[in-house]
This record gives sequence, structure tokens and C-alpha cells, in this order.
Amino acid sequence: MAIRKIFQEGEECLAKRCREVTVFDDKLSQLIDDLFDTLKKADGAGLAAPQIGVLRRVAVVNVDGVKMELVNPQIIAAEGQQIGEEGCLSVDFSKNCEVLRPQKVTVRAYDRYGKMFERTVTDLPARCVCHELDHLEGILFYTRKYQCK
Ligand code: ZN
Repeated sequence: MAIRKIFQEGEECLAKRCREVTVFDDKLSQLIDDLFDTLKKADGAGLAAPQIGVLRRVAVVNVDGVKMELVNPQIIAAEGQQIGEEGCLSVDFSKNCEVLRPQKVTVRAYDRYGKMFERTVTDLPARCVCHELDHLEGILFYTRKYQCK
């Protein structure tokens, strides 16, 4: 268990596509524990591996009673829309802005042991899943800033 440094916007690790996880070992388990510990310390809703400098497709979410570890996650269904303010532990809060996200998503992912699961979440946890999956593509939320017409 360890609190890791959260990298800030401008660092290369936040702008790259992360690689798939192929080995489900103790190192992966350690990474997931570190993500949860670092997220808790920072009092955030979700954290992705590239935010602590690890370019792997791993993220954790812990918000509104939804706690998930996501390895190689994919959104397999999305429904509805929600507009709400987002921020990020890797971006200065002055860049917080409204982002349009699905109201409900079903995510398919693996846990640390390599067991596949699917889970459907709504509202803030759905927003958080989308935000963390963006990190795995090197995308920061404010590039999706909602512009009303
Ligand atoms: Zn973020």
C-alpha cells in the first residue's frame, strides 16, 4: 500500500494511449491498491493508472457507493445524457467545466485476478467511468467541454 504522486497536466503520461494489461500478477494487484489509496488520500471519485505515471489500462472508481477496479475496461452500452461539472486530480480546478456524458453505462472489465465482469452504473458513477476511460486514451475531460448552442 502506498500513496503515489499524481501527475499533473502537461506531463506526457497523461496524453498517451495506455497499453492493455496482459499479466494479472502481484504487481497489478499492488498498482490497484496504490490507486485506491492515492484516490482516498486525494478525496477524489476516480483515478486512472496514467495519473500515477503507469501507462496501463487500469482505473479505479469509488463514488456514491460504487467501488470498482477496472482492468482493460470497455463501455459496451450507453444510454441517455447528463450534463454536469467535472474536475480532475491531474488538472487545476480553474479548468473545471460542464461535460456531456451518458446517463447510464455498462462497463465490461477484468478485476485484478483476471475475472471478467460487467456492471451497469448511472449518474455520477457513470460520469466517473467515462472520465477514467478517457484517461486511458490520453484524453482530458475539458477537451469535451459542453458548449450550449
Ligand atoms: Zn481525471
